[in-house]
Amino acid sequence: MDPILDGLNPAQRQAVTSPDPILQVLAPPGSGKTKTLTARVAYLLSHHGYLPQDIICCTFTIKASREMRERLSKLVGEKVQSRLILGTFHSICRRYLVKYGYLIGLRKGFAIADSDDSRGILRRIIKRLSSGMEVKTAQGKISRHKAHGLSPDDLVGRVKADEMELVDIYRQYEAALAAAGLLDYDDLLVRCGQLLREHPDCVSNVQTVLVDEFQDTNIIQYDLMNLLAAKNRRITIVGDPDQSIYGFRSAEIQNLKRMQKRYSNTSLVLLESNYRSSASILSSAQEVIEQDTTRPAKKLQATHSHGTMPVLRKLPNANAEAQWMVLEIKRCMALMGGVMRMSDVAVLLRSASLSTRIETAFGRAGIPYKMVGGRKFFDRTEVKTLINYLRVVSHSDHTDALLAIINVPPRRIGDETIRQLTSGAEKASVSLWTFIKDVVQGRRSTEKKLQKAAELGLCALMKLIDAAKQKLQECEDPSAPCVLLEYITESLSFQEYLIRAYPLDEDSRWANVKELMGQAHDTAASSGDPGQEEDLPEIEGIEQERAHVGEETLSRFLANVALATEATKQEEGEEVTEKVTISTIHAAKGLEWPVVFIPAVYNGSIPHSRAEVIDEERRLLYVAMTRAQALLYLSLPLKQSRFGEGEDSSTTLTPFLPPKLIKTRFRPMGPQLLEKVVYSIADILGRPRPAAEDMYKELNSLPSTLDDQWTAEGEEKDKRTESDWKSCLGPQDSGEPNPK
Ligand code: ATP
Ligand code: MG
Repeated sequence: MDPILDGLNPAQRQAVTSPDPILQVLAPPGSGKTKTLTARVAYLLSHHGYLPQDIICCTFTIKASREMRERLSKLVGEKVQSRLILGTFHSICRRYLVKYGYLIGLRKGFAIADSDDSRGILRRIIKRLSSGMEVKTAQGKISRHKAHGLSPDDLVGRVKADEMELVDIYRQYEAALAAAGLLDYDDLLVRCGQLLREHPDCVSNVQTVLVDEFQDTNIIQYDLMNLLAAKNRRITIVGDPDQSIYGFRSAEIQNLKRMQKRYSNTSLVLLESNYRSSASILSSAQEVIEQDTTRPAKKLQATHSHGTMPVLRKLPNANAEAQWMVLEIKRCMALMGGVMRMSDVAVLLRSASLSTRIETAFGRAGIPYKMVGGRKFFDRTEVKTLINYLRVVSHSDHTDALLAIINVPPRRIGDETIRQLTSGAEKASVSLWTFIKDVVQGRRSTEKKLQKAAELGLCALMKLIDAAKQKLQECEDPSAPCVLLEYITESLSFQEYLIRAYPLDEDSRWANVKELMGQAHDTAASSGDPGQEEDLPEIEGIEQERAHVGEETLSRFLANVALATEATKQEEGEEVTEKVTISTIHAAKGLEWPVVFIPAVYNGSIPHSRAEVIDEERRLLYVAMTRAQALLYLSLPLKQSRFGEGEDSSTTLTPFLPPKLIKTRFRPMGPQLLEKVVYSIADILGRPRPAAEDMYKELNSLPSTLDDQWTAEGEEKDKRTESDWKSCLGPQDSGEPNPK
């Protein structure tokens, strides 16, 4: 048997081996779409003779591309896998722009403006125009226009008179980015599209393009897919319309239809077996999504047994809810010693802001956790400061980065000086960096003369950055980011600065600095590794831009930071570190965990009070529920405290969980896990059943979560007996010792 096809069902095999050039695999969660796509890549390599560098595979998250690489390593070997062009649309576009951007007049060594940078630029423009528009609103609208490929000029004549203000802001925003040599996230896609349209030869080697999570591509990504595959017109996509949750970021579910229309030879494969979740979790999730009556009915069969029913738990308030999760996790670990690890548990949130209380409770209770979907690590002040230093060294016209470090550590450059400098630079139409340099060197002057102390401070900063740039030039190897970080922290006496500025937690801040250095070191070590720019194949007749190795590693390191939607280090070594994952639902796409908690399932949280499309909110809950393999917990606090709004207000259960569904598909109370439950979970996960005597060892020392303390008003205490609990299990789950 071919090892690539081993363990696949007939429909999956059909998708993997299909000779059809245009293939859509549409299937519900957990049906093996990603597994099938990965196997198809391996199959194309080993049976169709494609070269890895001629295959492009787009995943939705950085994490997903790593996982796919891991799986492919096993199927086709490390070396072959490493040459594939595999990554998110953004990272693939960046690679093409680094190599060929010069063909469309892109400045060498462009830098990426992350969301914060974009907001900084917009804030200045809005202030200058004395516009009342909110920065976030402007950012969202501009991004949406970009996603639809509309430039400010395109908008003139299309928009109403009262929207001309936005067009103005948009135009100035584009000019500011261009002047600073920056590309925002949307630009990476837009400009790569332009490159491929004007110079299709750049991808003349590409044999085939594969896309995971296709339902969440936007129109620009859809165009890019077609452009990347223009030569051979061979495309495979996998997706699930029921999991489309990025409409708010201009994802277009119509892309599926668009594709069928564009390629009349599109073939379709449906997968109908779910391999992820217990039958009871699956059926509860199904009932949630089926409330959307506009969607076509679909078949989905569970391959696992009934398992234990999902739990819905109401708690008095958000703190109790967090405490309850702590205890429930501890009970799971105790009862299922040997079967469960902390890393088997995920807490999935509708909004990242819900995490604070949970993090605090976990921290206090010593439950190790990692946050995904936030940019926690890179957002820490000391880390951000050093990153901004690197950005200024790599790309001095990066005004926002420069403003962020201009007086950190303090060098007596006050607000008034900064105002003088920025307005001077604006008037002279040069970057802030150039202006400061000119002032320091006496070639220009500010409106009012700067104070001596401020001038000295600016001088010191200039000197430091120039010296670091010199160092970078001298560093002809991939260790550049490390070398620079060491140089900068030393020159700034950064540790002493942290002691002075943060006497209470200087230790942990310095540890973060060390961690950042570790990550820089990893970038250096992984140079030449999977997915690096070197991998784009040489194309005859088109010159590639050659970069200085040190500069290139630094810019790649910074791009990784900018593109990381998840804190990189925390993703790595995930298998070994035993931590609970706390993630937004959006960032949990495509992933799975044995135990999943979805807290705050109340109206206003999900559906979110500001949500525009209710169906998309329902799909979000569906995506969250279908991440769970064996145990699913939903919960809500009955009172919600709103910061700054005085009184606590009552919550109501989300309408996505109507009473009938709860009655038939959920257990209302926290579970008293019994051996049978544990056995059924072990079986679903394919793990050995723990010995009965091990189960209760620690459990008895823990309080029951059915105690008064946890019971919300109006909720009955659980009086069920062991035989009642048995009925939570399906007929298949006898709980008899596993014959295996
Ligand atoms: P999602 O829509 O959530 O992204 P998916 O359709 O991509 O889900 P996968 O993540 O590929 O599903 O697979 C879900 C789980 O099912 C994985 O653990 C995978 O290994 C397993 N699986 C898929 N196909 C099979 C199979 N034929 N036999 C056994 N396990 C399978
Ligand atoms: Mg998937």
